[in-house]
Amino acid sequence: MTDEIQCQWSVWFRTHYKYDRSQRDFDAAKWNASHRALLEERLLQLQAEGWAVFVEGENWFEIVGRQHVVKIAGKPDILAIRDRQVWVEDCKTGRKKNSDLYQVLLYMLLLPLSHPQCRGVKLQGRLVYPDGAIAISSDQMNEAFKGQFREAIALLSNTTPARKVPSDQECQYCDIPAQCCPERVEQPPNQSLDDHGLF
Ligand code: SF4
Repeated sequence: MTDEIQCQWSVWFRTHYKYDRSQRDFDAAKWNASHRALLEERLLQLQAEGWAVFVEGENWFEIVGRQHVVKIAGKPDILAIRDRQVWVEDCKTGRKKNSDLYQVLLYMLLLPLSHPQCRGVKLQGRLVYPDGAIAISSDQMNEAFKGQFREAIALLSNTTPARKVPSDQECQYCDIPAQCCPERVEQPPNQSLDDHGLF
């Protein structure tokens, strides 16, 4: 649903298969520690403001499709509830990405299906970064977004594989190993440029 991912096959493959993830240069322990610290800080802020706060596993959902053979699971970082107001928040410590917004919009779309306290209220969303928060209005969860969501579900649940787009830019961050994806690009392309003199 986001233009950050050109290789739709990677998402299709993850939806259909289990696999041993390729080791990437990613410090999971460091990421977990900084994410945990940001989440704890936000949790204390909300509690001090009088919100009832639910975190991670408490917010877990799993929804089975009715028209497509697909199951969607998620675990929003924070649900904050007060006076029939519900905020869905996700804490992000990495660089800001469009997919952050889509993730929270998906939570806002799906939580009312699985969590009774989210039904019949307008959910608001928030992305919490170390340098500040960005509010997400329920108006952004409009028909265009729902249409994109349905298209993505149809693509991912299809037995026909989605389009594969190998590129150094994307493969270097992809955890699907070469045994599963022989087209995986391991090195940047060697562009031996002539002295073109164009610029
Ligand atoms: S390794 Fe590259 S081509 Fe293969 S699935 Fe991942 S992004 Fe796509």
